[in-house]
Amino acid sequence: MHQLPDEALPHEFRLAYPRMGLHQFAGGLGLRAWARYTHAAFVGMWATSFQACIVPVRRSSALRMPAYPALEMVVQQAEMLRTGAVDAAQVTTLAADLCLAWEESRQLAVRHCPSAVERRDPASEGHWVHATSGRITEIVHMPDRAQRALSKPVNRQVAQEVRAAIVGDESLGAGERLERAAETMCSAAGHVLQAHPWQASQTLSLASHEVLATLAWRYCLPLPGGLQPPQECGGTCQHRGMSLPGKRDTAERVELAALTQREWVTHAVRSCVQSGGVRRLCHDAVLRVLYDMLRSAGFEDVEMEDRWWDEGDDEAKDTRRPDITCFNPIDRCRYVIDVVGAWAALDGGRGVWRPVGHAANGKARFKWRSYKGALLRQESGDRGWLVKQSRATDQFVPFAFEVGGALGDEAEAFLRLAVKVAAHCRRGVGDLEHWSAMSWSGHWRQRIGVEIARGLARSVERAATGGRSRGSATRGRNAEWDPSSC
Ligand SMILES: [Zn+2]
Repeated sequence: MHQLPDEALPHEFRLAYPRMGLHQFAGGLGLRAWARYTHAAFVGMWATSFQACIVPVRRSSALRMPAYPALEMVVQQAEMLRTGAVDAAQVTTLAADLCLAWEESRQLAVRHCPSAVERRDPASEGHWVHATSGRITEIVHMPDRAQRALSKPVNRQVAQEVRAAIVGDESLGAGERLERAAETMCSAAGHVLQAHPWQASQTLSLASHEVLATLAWRYCLPLPGGLQPPQECGGTCQHRGMSLPGKRDTAERVELAALTQREWVTHAVRSCVQSGGVRRLCHDAVLRVLYDMLRSAGFEDVEMEDRWWDEGDDEAKDTRRPDITCFNPIDRCRYVIDVVGAWAALDGGRGVWRPVGHAANGKARFKWRSYKGALLRQESGDRGWLVKQSRATDQFVPFAFEVGGALGDEAEAFLRLAVKVAAHCRRGVGDLEHWSAMSWSGHWRQRIGVEIARGLARSVERAATGGRSRGSATRGRNAEWDPSSC
């Protein structure tokens, strides 16, 4: 791609490119614009060089100094230039460069971590400023992997700029880009990007069309021809999408045509009545992952209820049984979990950056209403949520996910609890001696992300093919990514 001039890239891709430069857990693909990191890289290189050549002055001496006096000379000159004791003409170019890179890095770290008290915390982005007292001559006290520490404030700065540009954008299609960005610029939406092809059980792998659909959705890019839903759904759906412009003779009309086709995609995914089946499939798949995760963590008596489906997924019906019940092995508290997908966007006001999980939290509130209604009915002897009564008060958990991969606040809190339970139950067990909470959690988050991405791709594919793909698991998979064809 480095050989292509920017003008040769599609318009939508150029609009999305700044976002792709962000970290994958911040809504990007990690395709960093390296020019922004030159100061961090330069200071990082100096710190590493300096730290690597520190030796005791004499054997058994506690006093240590760099083995190469030239390094120390440059560092001292850079510090003198920084404090104004000398001017740039009196120092070497290296010292002037180091001084500039240090000051740029220091000012950025202080801007993003302005409190001196906060900078004392080794986990803070500005800790290195505290550790060196901001002086270049203290460069030996930079943290290990200094470049990484120096890059964090740059990451944050770049992310803020990208976000401000998305909010301030008033060009064609800006509302859609803002909505998708607010929904997908979060860590929960990033895990799916770690999934990979060629995995036999397919619990962690995505087919090429699933990856394409996910990225096209996230970055508002055009879908490949075979995956583009039509203007009219036909069948039981009365919706008729926006019409394409008659001609595509100007850049603006080409853009308008692309926007129109994306509107057809949005309808298919978010609101088409004929997508009910694929939404249910996705719900059930996320539910199964959650079930497996709870058993893996060590929850007790994990049960998936025989669910009773109402065709329209009507939230007002409160007689539905919960999806999963399980007991926390630590305190025997019972959790009553109901999984729900937020496919539609929840309005947050024009031009407003909605908080992460906004639509999922909206769905979770519906679930609470439904749950409370069911409890009331049960008390009067009718059908309800509680199949068996337990002694302690049950905890109701609406586990809401969004089509972009974000989760509701209660789902996030429940995942954190599951990690604690897993850490409690699995510590030091046989081959799990080296078990790590981070990788356990990452595994299950990836699996949830994979099922959501599959659901998104299925709804797009269903609309594009008129539903002919239903019932065939391998249809639409790109042959080069299909494990059965290797
Ligand atoms: Zn439709």
